[in-house]
Amino acid sequence: MDRREFAKLSALAVAWSSLPLAARDIVASGNDVSQKPVGYAAIGLGTISDIFMRGCANSKAAKITALVTGHPDTKGAKYAAMYGIPKTSIYTYETFDRIRDNPEIDAIYVGLPNSMHCEYTVRGAMAGKHVLCEKPMAISSAECRKMIDACRQAKVKLMIGYRVHYEPLWNRAIQILKSGKIGELESFHGGFFGQQPAGAWRLTKSLGGGGALMDLGIYPLNAIRHITGEEPTDFTAIVSTRDRSGRFAEVEQSMEWTMKFPSGIIASCGCSYGARGPSVLNINGDKGYLVMEPAFNYDGLRLRGEVGGQPIDESSAGKQPYQFTIEAEHFSECIRNHREPESPGEEGLKDMLAIEAIYRAAGAPIA
Ligand code: NDP
Repeated sequence: MDRREFAKLSALAVAWSSLPLAARDIVASGNDVSQKPVGYAAIGLGTISDIFMRGCANSKAAKITALVTGHPDTKGAKYAAMYGIPKTSIYTYETFDRIRDNPEIDAIYVGLPNSMHCEYTVRGAMAGKHVLCEKPMAISSAECRKMIDACRQAKVKLMIGYRVHYEPLWNRAIQILKSGKIGELESFHGGFFGQQPAGAWRLTKSLGGGGALMDLGIYPLNAIRHITGEEPTDFTAIVSTRDRSGRFAEVEQSMEWTMKFPSGIIASCGCSYGARGPSVLNINGDKGYLVMEPAFNYDGLRLRGEVGGQPIDESSAGKQPYQFTIEAEHFSECIRNHREPESPGEEGLKDMLAIEAIYRAAGAPIA
């Protein structure tokens, strides 16, 4: 996609996302309330699936119609009762492939640990179901390609859960950038930081695939790629693991990296699993700047900066789980109208190629 196509898409996204939910229901036949909602099977009933299911409950275009869990009698029964799902539509990882025979399931939502995304996307596609897969898409670019191929062969849609693409305040920021009021883009500074407790699956190579970069660094990386519409070509990276208690025996604690894009735009980013810190993106132009902070949270986003010589200060109005409602509605609309999602599998693959390049630049071993 070149810059012009990107600008066109962004303008459409801005126009779309600035419509209130009710208006979007009327405009898009995908959200036509007279149509049956698109049915989703949530796979892996953890933190993110819980939020996604609540997001669907707020939508008339998306409905949770099945569950896939290792705990059918406890978690499965609890969510089935919450969302009116029959017992026959609760599956385990072993019985998963039987979703093929359930006409109430149009799509799957993959909310599993990273290393399981590829397997369940491929199996879901082979069962004839569309796939909405959480980020990171997988744990290698080879897996991403396999997922894209499987969905293409099965003629099902594949979307990656980059909820920031659908967040109205982010689309407002993109609208400002496209207006030229901060001038030519020069550079970005971004970061996302948090703590992971010892023993978490995210700290294992086999389930996480990598550390903070894979899980948190992907946010500024994806946002910068999304905004510039370019792919980074040059990287430097430095990794550090200061906590030697064993918590970070398998994956990195902290990563800082820089990237350069073909246009000459440069970016400097950081992430950590062992630090408290903001989720932030600074966007610097030659005539003004934007700061989104918090940038990647589920709600409460704030956009400040200097635009056309004037200060701005705006906040997102929605409350969690609105980002997931918009995301689910977008995918439902794509399924109903045979359109490509705004964040397809190729978007996940491009992030993974950049992640691999950053790890290479950091050198091995990374832990
Ligand atoms: P959780 O640990 O909270 O949930 C993962 C679920 O996967 C578990 O509850 C479990 O469900 C199932 N599971 C199956 N096998 C395993 C296993 N071996 N170890 C652990 N869990 C297993 O993770 P999250 O919900 O935080 O993350 C899931 C995915 O979502 C990740 O890829 C993550 O990157 C992504 N994510 C995306 C976010 C976003 O904003 N877009 C935010 C947070 C996470 P059950 O017991 O039902 O089998």
